[in-house]
Amino acid sequence: RRATAATPDKTAVVCYQEDADGGHGPVALTYRELTAKVERIAGNLHRLGVRHGDVVTLQLPNTWQLVATILACARIGAVAGPVVPIMRRREVEFATRLTASPVYVGAATFRGFDYAAMSARVAETVPTLRHRVLLGGGADGSLDFEAELLAPESSLDGSVEAGPDDVAQVMFTSGTTGEPKGVVHSHNTLYSMNRAQADVLHLSGDEVTAMGSPTTHQAGYTWNLVMPLLLGATSVHVDHWDAALMQEILEKRRVTFFMGAPTFLSDLIARQADAPRDLSALHTFATGSAPIPPLLVERCRDVLGCRLYALWGMTENGCVTITRPEDPAMRAAESDGTAVPGMEVRVVDRDTGTPATGGRPGLLQVRGSAQCLGYYRRPQVYAACVTPDGWFDTGDLARDDGHGGIRITGRVKDLIMRGAENIPAIEVEAALLRHEAVRDVAVVGYPDDRLGERACAVLVTGGVPLTLADVRHHLDGLGMVKHYWPERLEFLPELPRTPSGKIQKFVLRERLRAGA
Ligand code: ATP
Ligand code: MG
Repeated sequence: RRATAATPDKTAVVCYQEDADGGHGPVALTYRELTAKVERIAGNLHRLGVRHGDVVTLQLPNTWQLVATILACARIGAVAGPVVPIMRRREVEFATRLTASPVYVGAATFRGFDYAAMSARVAETVPTLRHRVLLGGGADGSLDFEAELLAPESSLDGSVEAGPDDVAQVMFTSGTTGEPKGVVHSHNTLYSMNRAQADVLHLSGDEVTAMGSPTTHQAGYTWNLVMPLLLGATSVHVDHWDAALMQEILEKRRVTFFMGAPTFLSDLIARQADAPRDLSALHTFATGSAPIPPLLVERCRDVLGCRLYALWGMTENGCVTITRPEDPAMRAAESDGTAVPGMEVRVVDRDTGTPATGGRPGLLQVRGSAQCLGYYRRPQVYAACVTPDGWFDTGDLARDDGHGGIRITGRVKDLIMRGAENIPAIEVEAALLRHEAVRDVAVVGYPDDRLGERACAVLVTGGVPLTLADVRHHLDGLGMVKHYWPERLEFLPELPRTPSGKIQKFVLRERLRAGA
């Protein structure tokens, strides 16, 4: 609203989204236009019976309707409940039931999938779900987004706007380790996370931001929605990932800041190396959600020539640590950075709970102003993650990076314990990615009678055969200690990933166990 008052005619969002005629032309809205839509949608949601504290399930692709509906929820004190488009009936049912959501907002069809039929089945089994509002809807008992939420008879009478400590969002974790958690954030915790990341990266209202993954995931939600609006900047939204299309858009829109998991960075670099375009406006790339292979850091410098920040964070707290490229001691290849203002991090010994010393890996704990309020209707699960003095146990393992920052070494649940040795899977993966035949890799444990577990490398090589001897020779050449070397290889055409770009190691472990 501050941006609307200060720069009403500035472009707030540019959205490359499917339209009714099958086109994909961009829709641009100024701050004034966006605010007018938000008011309309808010009034109509209120008319449909959405009240303060109700969770509106939002399974929209990256579109202006998603941006406007999220803001409309805040306007009437309702809660945004984003669900990534790739989720299907089981997950949507889980989310709507857990949050007792009265309204589902989505697209009738998108990229060949029939969300209208899927959401109709969800509504049959979730009694609280009274309305389905769909882009291109209206045919099957659903409501059409345009006709219903943009209708002029909208009224905000009697609605109550959200206060700073009211719940703003229930965002689901990626489900990398199992059942997703509904993370509860207030407007204040979201503000704190977005303010801090923008300040550390020196981002301003002049930015044009873009993102590769869904805005319905925390990374997209903060970096490409809340943060640019907070700054009064322009954000570019694209409803599906296509590296060539994104490269074209980055050039055309003179995008200055891009955030994406390492897979998006890797795709863009490959594209730019093959068919270069003028990406000179792009001054900063931030990557997080998964470890960045050191090779990619070098390639980013050589091919994109922009500043690269590596960050670590979670749905529960956003971006918590971030590298500072202007500080030569902290480069993305060796570090995941230091804490942003307002957040504290520490690494503690797994057995004693006291701070780990001497660069030994331990449990990563955090606390501060961006930390979420808890897990929706799962207070006991959240309480089990918080120490008596308020530190949140992240479930990640990290060590001191030697320069006052942290380096993530893995997840507690992914830890490979080979006898008395813990194998740092992330470091072995980074080394394996340096092999020219290896396109993607995950190192996971498989059960072993004698040692408890041994390490298996699950490789994507595009058909190139590799033997254990090849792999060991490669790791030996890089000076890696012998007990980290994988003792089994498996090959897959691609690795199972979450929509946010994370490898689902639990799926791989189950497969290995089944095949053992
Ligand atoms: P779930 O909690 O449902 O299992 P998830 O933890 O993957 O899923 P998110 O909140 O999306 O859900 O992801 C946060 C996790 O992503 C972190 O706990 C960490 O394991 C991983 N992660 C984020 N950034 C990095 C990074 N820079 N390096 C390594 N891992 C990272
Ligand atoms: Mg998690």
